[in-house]
Amino acid sequence: MNLGISIILSLLLGLLAYIKKALTTPALLLAIIFSICITHFGGITTFIILVVVFLGSVITKLFTKKKSQEKRKTIQIIANVGTSTLVILLYKITSNPTYLLIYAAVMAESLADTLASDIGILSKSEPINILTGKKGEKGISGNISILGLLSSLLGSFVIGIIYYIGINNSIISFIIIVLSGFLGSIVDSILGASIQVKYKCPICKKITEKKIHCKEKTKYERGIKWIDNNVVNLLSNLSVFLLLWLLLIR
Ligand SMILES: [Zn+2]
Repeated sequence: MNLGISIILSLLLGLLAYIKKALTTPALLLAIIFSICITHFGGITTFIILVVVFLGSVITKLFTKKKSQEKRKTIQIIANVGTSTLVILLYKITSNPTYLLIYAAVMAESLADTLASDIGILSKSEPINILTGKKGEKGISGNISILGLLSSLLGSFVIGIIYYIGINNSIISFIIIVLSGFLGSIVDSILGASIQVKYKCPICKKITEKKIHCKEKTKYERGIKWIDNNVVNLLSNLSVFLLLWLLLIR
């Protein structure tokens, strides 16, 4: 898409993020740059997909009436949109349209993951750990519920539909996007259950992913210390990218 229009659309998306107080200033600037790349090199549908993934992370939070979340930082933008921006740059360099399919699949994984955690937390039943099958607490990475899995499937489905309508009406591509988005979010849960760092609150004794809980510093419990939710998101995005690159491009 034309550079001027790409910049205007990206600034509008940035304005929305600014109004929703979703991002810190450096994160906002980086997000606008990523958005300009995605729209200018990928086209209007890749921009629409970006908007839908962004709205997914904002709307569910309004809907679930969660307390105002922390603003997203630069590292979170890189973790969540870095891989998809890279894929669009590869599309620009190679002109291979399969990269647009991979872009949609990576974004499907992101939306699947967001919806799984934001809607899954509303599940009435206790979630189970994806690796051990033991019941656990809501809101902890690696714990899954039927509602969370369905939400994840819904997220992938929405991106698959947009790709189908806007880029390529191929049912095979649609299925690839839905499956890889869904499987990517399973990878996310497996990494969340295994290597992601977990802490324990000294006050309420709950396991948490936060460094501060009940206004106290939490203690290291398990997992790899530098692997937090951002790293897990990046790894699951990369897993979708690598899998599809190996299957469809290499
Ligand atoms: Zn606590």
